[in-house]
Amino acid sequence: MQDFTKLPSTVREFDFFVDGKWIDRGSRGQSERLSPGHDVPVTRTVRCTKEDLDHAVAVARRAFNAKTWSTVSGAERAAVLLRAATGIRDKLDELAYWETLETGKAISQCRGEIEAAAGHYEYAAGVARTLSGEAFNNLGDKMFGLVTRQPIGVIGLITPWNFPFIILAERIPYMLAAGCTIVAKPAEVTSASTLMMAEILTESGLPDGVFNVVPGSGSEVGQAMIEHVDIDVLSFTGSIDVGRRVLLASASNFKKLSLELGGKNPQIVYADANLEDAADGVAFGLCFNAGQCCVSGSRLIVEKTVAREFEKLLIEKLSRVRTGDVLDPETQLGAIVTDEHQAKILGYVQTGLNEGAVLSCGGKSLEAHAGRFVEPTLLTNVRNDMVVAREEIFGPVLAMIEFETIDEAIGIANDNIFGLSASIWTSDIDKAVETMRRVQAGRTWVNTTISGGPELPIGGFKQSGNGRETGVYGVEEYTEVKSIHIELGKRNHWVS
Ligand code: NAP
Ligand code: MG
Repeated sequence: MQDFTKLPSTVREFDFFVDGKWIDRGSRGQSERLSPGHDVPVTRTVRCTKEDLDHAVAVARRAFNAKTWSTVSGAERAAVLLRAATGIRDKLDELAYWETLETGKAISQCRGEIEAAAGHYEYAAGVARTLSGEAFNNLGDKMFGLVTRQPIGVIGLITPWNFPFIILAERIPYMLAAGCTIVAKPAEVTSASTLMMAEILTESGLPDGVFNVVPGSGSEVGQAMIEHVDIDVLSFTGSIDVGRRVLLASASNFKKLSLELGGKNPQIVYADANLEDAADGVAFGLCFNAGQCCVSGSRLIVEKTVAREFEKLLIEKLSRVRTGDVLDPETQLGAIVTDEHQAKILGYVQTGLNEGAVLSCGGKSLEAHAGRFVEPTLLTNVRNDMVVAREEIFGPVLAMIEFETIDEAIGIANDNIFGLSASIWTSDIDKAVETMRRVQAGRTWVNTTISGGPELPIGGFKQSGNGRETGVYGVEEYTEVKSIHIELGKRNHWVS
């Protein structure tokens, strides 16, 4: 039995999961994962091939057509989803442990995400039972109209490394509630929890072939998935560059897309805000998941009259963010996913300084721990046209820009290709609502940041993506709408 407070004594190996069972690796390649927080090997997963993907898609299609899931009642689907939520909670320690080792997240954050994931399965179980259409009884005596929803079909699901389990939970139960079948390709470096979820679903009574996992590289399995002509919907979460490829590849069969891409999300701090609360929220929004988060608050847009005071409060908060071994429940700051990504983040800090930004705190890697970590970093004197204000850095690096009027604040917030999320800090309700209405973002927060849960939908404006996940919308997204006109009584003949 693994002691979840210590590093594993052996590397855990995973086969892959198709048609309700583990499939042996055979002669396929493997990918080994080093824990970002410790730099020791922790897992090995299979590198599946394009043929494996074709097989999994055929299995998912067969399962869809077999009607073992696509036409069963909402009550039956709900029962499976509720058992899956229990299955997740039963395995919380194990899931959190391996997720921490593969992602570098702090274990306390991981545990929170896994608890939250169980909540998504419970919520989607409710939607499975309440999903309904519309009836039109106002079309006159001779006509009756209905609008129904039915599952679209087979879904290809591609997920990133930054939130392997919670992003999965924001997708799978909603897709399953709709009655679809799924083939998932997790990021190669973080496949373990997706494979573990496949087993939990099967143990919860999900029929064979409804959820399948084909781990492998983006360039082979991912690219083949986005081009596949027997996948009806592709749900992709990741970078804007791969998102663009997904859009182009969807022309192969005009598959429906659900895209969640990047963000360069504003934290707008008005002078009348409770500045201590705002500093705490901005520190959390920056450091959560070490800034490797599509909704990280990475642009601080602060009113000029309080800029110096706010900077001081924020630096003080950032200096007290707890660092350490990511398996220690006290640790708050997680590790950076790969060496390459760490170099990219630190490169952005240098670019900012070259452009005239001032380093207010941080800016270096944290040398005190094994693995790779970046100090929470604040760049001031930033203009919104600088690279550090325009591009997604995906690390704990915050660019601070000052404003004088509400129009200026909103103008800066909206002057970006992304529109994923925005946070507004003020004690003036009029200002809060006006800013919330005018800001271009799919998720907005007032006097909080990165709050969420299954009830409210998530997704982005502009180049942050298409479609919405979670909430009732998250199930509807994976249904086709059908309209039905029923003529009653004797037909009034056209050919008389
Ligand atoms: P990415 O390359 O877009 O990866 C996301 C997923 O797409 C992974 O499963 C990846 O597989 C797969 N993929 C890669 N190439 C593909 C292709 N040609 N066809 C189909 N699928 C493909 O993102 P990343 O490399 O992990 O991170 C790069 C940047 O993306 C980050 O720095 C950040 O800016 C952004 N990002 C955004 C989010 C978000 O939640 N919005 C999440 C993660 C990253 P493999 O990884 O196995 O190759
Ligand atoms: Mg990549």
